[in-house]
Formats: sequence, structure tokens, C-alpha cells
Amino acid sequence: MISKLLIANRGEIACRIMATAQARGITCVAVCSDADRQARHVRLADEAIHIGGAAPADSYLRGDAIIAAALSSGAEAIHPGYGFLSENPDFADAIDKAGLIFVGPSADAIRAMGFKDRAKALMIKAGVPVVPGYHGADQDDALLSDEADKIGYPVLIKAVAGGGGKGMRLVQAPQGFKEGLASARAEARAAFGNDAVLIEKFITAPRHIEMQIFGDGTRAVHLFERDCSLQRRHQKVMEEAPAPGMTDAVRAAMGQAAVTAAQAIGYSGAGTVEFIVDGSGPLRTDGFWFMEMNTRLQVEHPVTEAITGVDLVDWQLRVASGEPLPAEQKDISIQGHAFEARLYAEDTTQGFLPAIGHLSHLRFPTNIRADTGVEAGDEISPYYDPMIAKIISHGPDRATALAGLGDGLAGTQVAGLTTNIGFLTALATHRDFSEGRVDTGLIGRDLDDLTKAESPTARDLAQAALALCGVDGATTGFALHSPLKWSFQLEDQKVDLTFRKDHVDCRVADRTIVAQNRGGVWWFDGHKPRPHFVDGRTVTLFGATPMALTMPDPLARTSAGAGGDVVLTPMPGLLRDVLVSVGDVVQQGDKLAVLEAMKMEHALRAPRDGRIAAIHASAGTQVQAGIALITLEDQDADSD
Ligand code: ADP
Ligand code: ADP
Ligand code: MG
Repeated sequence: MISKLLIANRGEIACRIMATAQARGITCVAVCSDADRQARHVRLADEAIHIGGAAPADSYLRGDAIIAAALSSGAEAIHPGYGFLSENPDFADAIDKAGLIFVGPSADAIRAMGFKDRAKALMIKAGVPVVPGYHGADQDDALLSDEADKIGYPVLIKAVAGGGGKGMRLVQAPQGFKEGLASARAEARAAFGNDAVLIEKFITAPRHIEMQIFGDGTRAVHLFERDCSLQRRHQKVMEEAPAPGMTDAVRAAMGQAAVTAAQAIGYSGAGTVEFIVDGSGPLRTDGFWFMEMNTRLQVEHPVTEAITGVDLVDWQLRVASGEPLPAEQKDISIQGHAFEARLYAEDTTQGFLPAIGHLSHLRFPTNIRADTGVEAGDEISPYYDPMIAKIISHGPDRATALAGLGDGLAGTQVAGLTTNIGFLTALATHRDFSEGRVDTGLIGRDLDDLTKAESPTARDLAQAALALCGVDGATTGFALHSPLKWSFQLEDQKVDLTFRKDHVDCRVADRTIVAQNRGGVWWFDGHKPRPHFVDGRTVTLFGATPMALTMPDPLARTSAGAGGDVVLTPMPGLLRDVLVSVGDVVQQGDKLAVLEAMKMEHALRAPRDGRIAAIHASAGTQVQAGIALITLEDQDADSD
């Protein structure tokens, strides 16, 4: 058995591999780039070696540096994870030459499946059904166009070197062929340095169903299928196992085809055979076609682990160490149903714009499996895929597992960054998906509905306002001048809080929400609050539709219009100076005190004209956010 392993990857997959390896007593060596020196995979590793700059080309794609790191650390094997060098046969060869073990298939097997055209030719020979189309070497424009006519529109133009949905163009009719070809080629050239394409019949109402296979070089088994039809721009968003509507006959046929594909290339290790499936009706034994094989561990492998109870990384390490396949086909069975959702730092309401930045808070519920490469306090950097985690649910049947996924998403707390949780939740409760009617066009068809921004309710605004006061759970400091009023802006809404003896009236638009303190927690109109997190001027409310509500500018607030009677500290800080005394008459906008916070001095100004009735803190003290600092009264209030 391998005793020391270098993991040539980062993020969640590096952590995932480490979890199994370390549990088996294997010493793990991480590699990292400049951007990842403090990353979770580095913190979890037994040793870490810095291999270069933040850009993948300067670090995680430098096979030579990685092999040198393995040799210097005394690791005997290298696990490539997915992405990066995982499907690079030259890397596998170089590892072999260096006398190390590559945890994966042979370089020849990777080569055989590395190009979609060659792979299809090989599969036809092995008797595996492939998508009808042209995959020849001749790349003449006119010939390709003729081939497309022969296949019949719509057709799909694909880069033979493609991956990750890149270099692919759907062409509906002959008029669009020339343009589709040019753009597919341009994208393929830029992404893979190879602009050769193939043309396939576009399967209508397509479903993506793939078989997990595992080989030991001579024999292969399959570990059933995963349905990955929920895609956006040919990229998987949510996966499940088993596939809805799967029958024993179709599963046996697909499993056989996948095992044949693996054995045809003497496959060793974990791999995935992807099929495109006719989803226009019930699944048929003659309704699936080979698309490609991914010669590595797949992102969505956890759903297979959930339903089979197999630890695929454990199998990878055993087979790489020379052990035979750990199980026979008849020993592998399905228990229940599993889902995986890919949690990303991205703004789905802004065209899925990646959201980079600081993760101020991150917590997962306990009823799901969460595979992650980050923790609270970490950064989502612009250099890599902005995936935060994979949320995996497992249940005795599809409905239970799907409900579990919904609960898992709702219970996941992320603050500091915009995430796709709302989008994933909408997807998890989508009618067709809930009922098992899936195809790769589902997300695109309902994109507007799935990505529409949720507005905060009056209760949300009331909760956020009270949370920003810093008084949730404790009513101290407000008994002084009852009732105290505070009005301020939250996003584009005004919230007026009136602190009364035993409750707070929260006025939002034309509604009043009553907040009551129950056991240290504010309840709103008799409803439990949403879990939340406060960071500076932003409150993040968690749940199925998470939202971050920000107070636009704390200083603008205290000087804005005819505000309340109280000047509150807008954020925690050191009270540098108090510039007024009790009895002073002030005008709206006058500087009353100076607060030092976030390395800056902030002037606290009079919210309205009036007289200083009370000062509740003295210069030099450390104050929390939302503390009543100064109370104003009307200028002519008690004057005689
Ligand atoms: P498929 O290749 O069919 O999309 P997966 O869903 O397993 O199958 O996708 C592989 C994933 O690997 C990509 O979606 C991407 O998120 C990830 N990936 C690819 N290249 C890199 C990379 N250089 N760095 C990090 N992740 C990568
Ligand atoms: P990649 O290497 O980028 O993963 P694939 O060949 O696996 O490329 O295709 C990615 C996705 O594109 C599939 O999951 C499917 O949604 C869609 N697709 C691929 N081929 C076809 C086809 N012939 N008909 C319909 N959809 C297809
Ligand atoms: Mg694919």
C-alpha cells in the first residue's frame, strides 16, 4: 500500500482525497500556489510544498514542479484529482518515468479517450452505440457542411479536444452552419490549442446519463448511473443517482456498454462513460449513445458513493497500489437515492457572474455531506473555479433525498459573498425536476424564473434592522429614554424602530412588525427569526432564499433628514472624542462625536436640530455597533 501520497490539486477535491487517504494512515503532501499558501487543503495536509504562482499555468499545471515536489518529499504516488493535469497522458507518463505511481489509468488509456473523435472510433469498434455523426480527420469546411446535411439538423459541432462544455455549438439549420463552425473553432483554438471538430446529431430532449466504472487493468465493473441532465451551458449544476425512470433493462445495457468501453482500453481506476440519452419518452435500450469518457474521478462522484456505500477514492488508492478490484459486479447494489448540488460563489441574477472575495461566515448543516475546500475567513480568489462546496443528500427514496437536499441548502450559511443557493433551491423545488422529468434544456427554458431575485419581506427588513442595532438578545441601553426611536435606511427601504418597554415596533413601508424578545432572540410578529450573520453594515439572512441587506452608509444615516432622537454607533469601534455636552443646542449635521472604526475616523452627526439630552458613553471607550451614544430632545422641550 502507498504510504505517502502527493495530491496534485487544490480546493474541495484535494481535501476530499486527503480525507480518505489520511483515514487510511497515508501521509499526505499538498502542493500550493501563491494564492493558496493558507488554503484549507494546505492546512489539512501533513506537508505542503509551494510550487509557483497563482495562475494555474505557473503552478497546478506544472507537471515537472509537481513531480519534483513528490520526489523531494518522498511521496510514492500522485493523485491528480480532476481538472488540471488529471487527463494529461504526458503527465502520467512522466510520473511513471520518475518511478512514481499515478493514481489513475495508464497514459495509453487516457490517450485513447483524450480526443472525442478517436474515442468514438474506438467505441464503434468495440460495439458501443455512439451518437450518429462525422468524426473524420478531414476538416474541410465544405465537407463538414455536407456531413451536417447528411446527419440532418439540428447538429452539434464539438471540439475533438473539448471539455467543460467549451468549443461546442448547436446549429439549428444549414444557414447557421458556417458561423457555428467558425465560433466553435475559435473557442477550441483558444481553450485547447486544437481547432479540429466533429459533428453530431443533436439529440432532442436530451438527457445526460453517465455510468461510473472502475477497472483494475483487466477487469471492470460499473457502479450504476448518475443523471446529470440539469446543466447550464453544457455544464452540470445538479446531479443525482440513480436516474429517474431508469429500468433494469436499460441499466444493464448501459452498464454493459460502459464496462465494454473500459475493458476495450484496459482501464484501471475510476472513470466515467458519458451517454447522451433520448429523453423524449421512457428510457429505451436503443435510446442511448456514447459521448465521451472522462478518465478520472468526477466532480459528482459523491452521489455514487452515497447510493453504493463505496468510497471511490479508497478504491483508487487500493487499485493504484496493485490490489485487484475490491468487489465483483454482483456485490455492488443501490441503496436509496442521492443528489448533489454545486454551490458556487456567483451572482445568478447577474448572468452567473463569479463572486470573488472574503468568506466571512460558512457553516453547513449536519444532515448532509458537504465537500468543501474553504472555511470561514478564506478568500474565493479570481484564479480558480469559484466553487464553495458540493452539497450531497441521501435518502431512502428520491422524494426524501430531494427534500433533504432542499433542507441542506436552506441550512447552509454563507456570508460575505453572493452564492447560487437561491437558484439551487428554486431548482430543487422545480415542478418537472421534482417529478423526475429532466432534460438538458430544463434550466435554460425556465432560467428567468429560476434566477429571479427575491425581495426582502417586511419581517426580513425588521430583523435585519434589529440585528444591525447590535441589540438582538439584549435590550440593555434602551431603558433610558423610552420610547426610543431609530430610523434608518436598509437597501432602498426605510425602517423605523420604536423601542418600547417589552417590545419593538418595526415600521416598514405601511406595516408595523412587532419584535419581541423571547429568551434572548427577537421574534417577529410571532415568527421565529431567520438565522443570520452580521458583518459590519451588512446582515446576511440565511435560508432557502438567502439575502444580504446592507445599510448604505452609516454616516449618511445619522445626518439624514429628520432622523430619530438617538445617535447610535453605526459600527463597533473606539469612541475617540465627544464634541458636545448635555444641554448644548445643535443643528442637523453638526459633528457630535468621532468614532474610530475599520482604521478610519467617522464623524457622528446630529440627525436633526435639537438639544443634547444625554450622553451615554465617554471618549476613550470601546463601543459596539448600535449603541445609543447621544440622545437628543426638542430644543424647546423643557425650556422655561
Ligand atoms: P465534465 O468534464 O463532463 O464536465 P465534471 O463535471 O467532472 O465532468 O467536470 C470537471 C470539472 O473540473 C469542471 O466542471 C471544472 O469545474 C473542473 N475543472 C476543470 N479544469 C479545472 C481547473 N483547471 N481547475 C479547477 N477545476 C477545474
Ligand atoms: P464536454 O467534454 O465539454 O463535457 P460532452 O461531449 O460531454 O462535452 O457534452 C457536454 C454536454 O453537451 C452534454 O452533457 C449534453 O448536455 C450536451 N450534448 C453533448 N452531445 C450532445 C448531443 N449529441 N445531443 C444533445 N446534447 C448533447
Ligand atoms: Mg462531458
